[in-house]
This record gives sequence, structure tokens and C-alpha cells, in this order.
Amino acid sequence: MGILGGGQLGRMFGIAARRMGYRVHAFEPHPDSPAGQISDVEINASYDDFAALERFAREVDVISFEFENIPLSAIREVAKIRPLRPRGEVLHICQNREREKGFLRKHGFPHAPFAVAESPEDLHTALSTIGTPSVLKTADFGYDGKGQLKLEGDVDVEKTWARFRSGRGVLEKWVRFQAELSVVVARGLDGRMLAFPPAENLHRRHILDISIVPGRFPQTIADAAVRLACEITASLDVVGLLAVEFFLTENSQLLVNELAPRPHNSGHYTFDACVTSQFEQLVRAICGLPLGPVDVLMPSRMENLIGNEADDWPKYLADPTARLHLYGKASARPGRKMGHVTFLKRS
Ligand code: AMP
Repeated sequence: MGILGGGQLGRMFGIAARRMGYRVHAFEPHPDSPAGQISDVEINASYDDFAALERFAREVDVISFEFENIPLSAIREVAKIRPLRPRGEVLHICQNREREKGFLRKHGFPHAPFAVAESPEDLHTALSTIGTPSVLKTADFGYDGKGQLKLEGDVDVEKTWARFRSGRGVLEKWVRFQAELSVVVARGLDGRMLAFPPAENLHRRHILDISIVPGRFPQTIADAAVRLACEITASLDVVGLLAVEFFLTENSQLLVNELAPRPHNSGHYTFDACVTSQFEQLVRAICGLPLGPVDVLMPSRMENLIGNEADDWPKYLADPTARLHLYGKASARPGRKMGHVTFLKRS
């Protein structure tokens, strides 16, 4: 199994794959990565080193990715040699907000109103249709709230554009939501799909903080979110995983916020609380194996350990309901995900 990206998602994917007897090769620019530490082989090279990408691809049977901001040229290079699952086009759509929202609009999936801007003039026009409060997000390479500006009241367009410092952006209406939730869907080579039960997500400073399963919303909402997530997964022709993040608006409407064609932070609970984890499900899907049951064995509450929150990690082990995961990262920077704890039978 080849995995592009050496972060914690690749690490947990690798752990699941190795449990099933697969050998894992990780491709990651930086040495001693979380995924590299548990892999049979870690290849350290940059994503524009085509010779290294080719060597990596030739030594594996199937390739997936755990990191969304991989240049398309690298994706195309490996996909020439071995099956890449999900396919590169899915990553191409999901790694850019403009393409992602364009896809949602084209296929009639519910989302917040948005407009694209690449100049102060465009921003002015966008504000006249979207209004404030709204949020200006970079079209490319944004995650965990990076490259986002909240706009309120009367906006000084020139000043805002200068502060934004990104060539192209998406202005999105600010959504007043009662909850945020997400669904991780797995889809096999034969097109069969299984979705994990939706997680309720709480964010802190734009970064996922806590996921609660079952979420504190009615079953009808959970069912509708699963239905929508499966429809999106099928229309993207995903083989592997697709995580779909939703806002549940104050008037109980579901709006799609983001798509991620990979394991998702909000699906970490599946590692300890479900019969099959999202990581094992990814292994099964991309290898053409039957998908595993998605039953939840225990209610759970997953808490991310961000920055120095993991420093005093032994304290979590004093709680018998806690399952601790640390990612093997050498240094804790503010905002860096260092690990997570899943508390079972607590909500
Ligand atoms: P994103 O990187 O777009 O997923 O944004 C990270 C978080 O910022 C979301 O999970 C929300 O909590 C918040 N957020 C982003 N966009 C909006 C929006 N249009 N309205 C309200 N909250 C938002």
C-alpha cells in the first residue's frame, strides 16, 4: 500500500493496513513523519521529484493519499503507474474551494451562498450579492481556518483585499448554525457504500476540538446527512473515503460546508468506538475488499490534543474510559494536532 502524505491520517491508515498484513510505503517530504514511523518504507522527497514519485509508485500495488494539498502534477505522475484511489480528479475538485463549491452548485447539493473574487472590484460585487456577515476564504490550499477573514458591517473593500493577500478567494455567507456535523462515507470498487454515523463537531479557533457520537440532533437529521453524503460520494465516483462536513442551520436545514476525500479528524472515534475504523474501511475500499460493518459499539467523545495539550499525556490514562492516540510528532507548535483521546461511554 502506498500513501502520499506522512501525517497522522497516514499513520492511522498504516496501522490499520499493517494489522491486516499489508506492507506500507509512505511518501512524505519530511523525515521521521507520523506515518513514516510506522511504515515499512518512508520515502523522503518533495512532491516535484518525479523520479522519487515513480520509484515510490512502482514498489506498491495501490496508492491513496492522506493530505489534500498534494500538487496535481504529483498525483498525475503516480496515477500513470498504479491505481490511485480516490482518483485524482476527486482530489483536484476537493483541494480548491471554488471547484468544490462549483461542484456542489452544479449538482444541486445544498450549500451556503458564495461568490468568487480575484480583485477588489470583484469583492465589491460579491459583497453586493452575499452581504455581511460573511467570510472570505482562499480558493486554494486552505484548511483549519487558515486564510479566512470574517467580514462584518460596512466593509472597506480595498483594505480587506490588501489584508487577504491571496490572489483568488471565495466570499461565503456567514451561516448561523445550531450545530456542525460530518459524515464519513466509504465506497468500494463495486460502488457499494457504507456511511459511519454522523459526528457532532465543536470547533475552537476554526480547528476541530471535539466530536460527539451519537450527535445531539434528531435521527431525521442524521439520516438526511447520511443520504446527502452518499449522493455526493456516488456523484464524485469516489473509491475510498469521502468526509462531508455540514452546517445544521438555525432553521434545521443541512448545508454542505466542505468535502475531504480521505480519513477525517471527525471520524477518529471509529478507531475505538466502531466495529470497523475509517482507516480499515479505506484499506478495504481501495483493495476491492468487502466493506466492514459500521456499527457503533459505544457512544464516544473524541477530543483533539492540540499544541501543548499533549505534554501532560499520562493524565488521560488515569481515566479508564479514555483511549489515547499520540502521533509521534517531535515538537508541539500552537495549533498543531499532536494526538487525540476518545472517551467511551461518555457524552
Ligand atoms: P472551514 O475551514 O471552511 O471548514 O472552516 C472552519 C470552521 O469555521 C467551520 O467548521 C465553522 O466552524 C467556521 N466557518 C467556516 N465557514 C463558515 C460560515 N460560512 N459560516 C459560519 N461559520 C463558518
